Amino acid sequence: MVPPLPEMPEKSPEYSGCPGCRPPGLRPGPRVAGRCCDNRGMRITVLAGGVGAARFLRGLKAAAPDDEVTVIGNTGDDITLFGLRICPDLDTVMYTLGGGINAEQGWGRADETFRIREELAAYGASPDWFTLGDRDFATHILRSQLLAAGEPLSAVTEELCRRWQPGVRLIPMSDDRIETHVTLKDQEAERHVVHFQEWWVRLHAQTPAAEIFAQGASDARPAPGVLEAIDSADVVLFPPSNPVVSVGTILSVPGIRAALTDKRVVGVSPIIGGAPVRGMADACLTAIGVETTAAAVAAHYGADLLDGWLVDDQDKADTYPAGVEVRAMPLLMRDLPSTTAIAQAALDLAGALETRGLA
Ligand code: GDP
Ligand code: CA
Repeated sequence: MVPPLPEMPEKSPEYSGCPGCRPPGLRPGPRVAGRCCDNRGMRITVLAGGVGAARFLRGLKAAAPDDEVTVIGNTGDDITLFGLRICPDLDTVMYTLGGGINAEQGWGRADETFRIREELAAYGASPDWFTLGDRDFATHILRSQLLAAGEPLSAVTEELCRRWQPGVRLIPMSDDRIETHVTLKDQEAERHVVHFQEWWVRLHAQTPAAEIFAQGASDARPAPGVLEAIDSADVVLFPPSNPVVSVGTILSVPGIRAALTDKRVVGVSPIIGGAPVRGMADACLTAIGVETTAAAVAAHYGADLLDGWLVDDQDKADTYPAGVEVRAMPLLMRDLPSTTAIAQAALDLAGALETRGLA
């Protein structure tokens, strides 16, 4: 038999912790900002790109299963193809945490087939350089349908996450359209400015970039919940994501960088031993005149933004910006245990900063 609920006195005391932890008999009171409550742990907000971020987030969920994680996702990679709106980074996070990812590849759906792609190719439809599987297409069809019906991307993302239950709150950085574009250095190129995806996927970032810019960012606003997630966070994490086209793009949305200045921010270096681990982040860093080293990326973020910086053991002898607390450990996300250890170290570093009153 279900025990009867305790009776609630008419004027019961208030409880200011998170709603999920309110003990029976207490009225919900005004929330106290900052730490949620001891039962629920911390509020962690993560500025996330795609593959690197999604892997890190799996480790973070394992390291901090009771903490409240909000993910602010990069939408600068988004592109419209075949009339469908595609959000690669949001989907990579959603599929990875929801168990639908092609784990070997790091993006796209598991058990994928490519019938639609074959049919499009038979029509000679372009582009032919962007891989979309049948299962993945379903996500883009539904997203496009909901967007066309007038729903903002943040609401659409929430709707898609209802199926995947990623265990984090996933919010796009903005509901406004922002696309990363690349100005090619090669003046002979067919078109001088291309979408980031064309440079990255079709040209493999081999044509040097003169400039990388977030088209539409200056007029954009953060999506509902983004600034609140930063304001109420105990710690903000930068996962090992691309510092230019993932974290950099999120920071380009007006208001986000400013919201971070008085928060505790801890980053995990995506650069190990002077090279990107996977992918071509060096091409992006070169384009903005930043060296491909863990120290140069830290300096690029700057000590006004970054409080803690986790680097690989190989990079611990480098010189880091004053005011940034640096810790070294093996940073290769080899498997879930090694990734969990990295996430735990990022949280530990944040905790140490708090204890020392640095941020
Ligand atoms: P995104 O930037 O999160 O969209 O994902 P990408 O996969 O495009 O970029 C990930 C970034 O993280 C790249 O700069 C990689 O060098 C870096 N990276 C990838 N795997 C690892 C890893 O195992 N450890 C660390 N520290 N960085 C990684
Ligand atoms: Ca990305």
